[in-house]
Amino acid sequence: MKRIAIDMDEVMADFNKKHLALFNRDFGEQLTTDDLHGKKLRELRPELVKEIRSYLLDPTYFRDLEVMEHCQEVVEELAQSYEIFVATAAMDFPTSFNAKYEWLKEHFPFIDDQNIVFCGNKSIIHADYLIDDNVRQLERFSGEGILFTSPHNVNVTGYPRVHNWLDVRDYFL
Ligand SMILES: [Mg+2]
Repeated sequence: MKRIAIDMDEVMADFNKKHLALFNRDFGEQLTTDDLHGKKLRELRPELVKEIRSYLLDPTYFRDLEVMEHCQEVVEELAQSYEIFVATAAMDFPTSFNAKYEWLKEHFPFIDDQNIVFCGNKSIIHADYLIDDNVRQLERFSGEGILFTSPHNVNVTGYPRVHNWLDVRDYFL
């Protein structure tokens, strides 16, 4: 069986939606994902980098993110023909471990604990494919990198691109 590694934030979990909602609430703004085309929030509001990051230091931040549309059903389907690993760069926010683990157990109970990897640099991941929104991780991954569309990466080229989980299904099945 070939092995697919899957990123969490902005691929399985809707990271941006909550982040933008909290930011808009606290700073009286009405930013949408359209404002993030080609950029991250911290690049759009560089003067608030510290505040923007601070939300993610809350140990519960990652616990109630929405699941990306169709992700559960497609991952479950892929698991019949591929070995599925979740690979999340959790070292970016070590306080997120518990919340991320509980989130996976709630929404993806069919993924075995042995197939969950909390890592830093994903070059260590030995898989045939990596689905990720982060180009830096795809660049150093040794297998086939697949770029999952997120507002910040819309201008990136050089990788097969999937816009959503139905695209992922088409790509693999
Ligand atoms: Mg990500």
